[in-house]
Amino acid sequence: MRFTHWAEHLLDLLFPPCCAGCASSGSLLCPACLRAIARLQEQRCARCALPCRGTDCRRCRFSSSSLFALQAVALYEEPLRTCIQYLKYRGITRLAQPLGSMLAACYRRYHLRADLVIAVPLHAERERLRGYNHARLLADVCADELGLPCAHPLLQRVRATAAQAGLSSSERRQNVVGAFQCQPQRSALPLSGSTILLIDDVCTTGATLEACTTALLQRGAGRVQALVLAIPG
Ligand SMILES: [Zn+2]
Ligand SMILES: [Zn+2]
Repeated sequence: MRFTHWAEHLLDLLFPPCCAGCASSGSLLCPACLRAIARLQEQRCARCALPCRGTDCRRCRFSSSSLFALQAVALYEEPLRTCIQYLKYRGITRLAQPLGSMLAACYRRYHLRADLVIAVPLHAERERLRGYNHARLLADVCADELGLPCAHPLLQRVRATAAQAGLSSSERRQNVVGAFQCQPQRSALPLSGSTILLIDDVCTTGATLEACTTALLQRGAGRVQALVLAIPG
């Protein structure tokens, strides 16, 4: 047992963790809350994750997304919503372990195939203030379980953007135009022609994922598929 694991184990004994979903004592996410995060049931479009019957998705018919695929673990509902907020805003970074595992299970369930894993980046200043990028923590756990390499430095958020919450769909798109930049020389792993698995916590309109995808494709990525924890109900 490594020292950090040993120290965490000791801290757990002294201060038993509370479940982020129901506040019961014993674990960060109790078995009942894990089960309550029900995976998406109805048939959904493999490209945009909206409900659709058959292969003809109305949204994809009228829009030209550059994303090859988008999959989500569950709807943005309790207890997953609180878990994501605790991970993002309350510094409970250990939640990345169970949540990242859910992403890995989703990857397997939908038979996704990727060469590289990249997290949606935060602007450097925001990451400095928060102390970490929650999407990167999720991506690292997911990639580790899947045995895939991470290439986070390939993608940077070069423009600080206003929070997407509260903006309309077109305002969100406008807000992130040119916000991301891909620099293939920042990673030893080859980008050219490779399939990227892009990881984020929540996808609302897809504007952020779309802006990241555009930056990656412009610099030679073969295709980009996104995997997120939650999409709106
Ligand atoms: Zn619970
Ligand atoms: Zn679609």
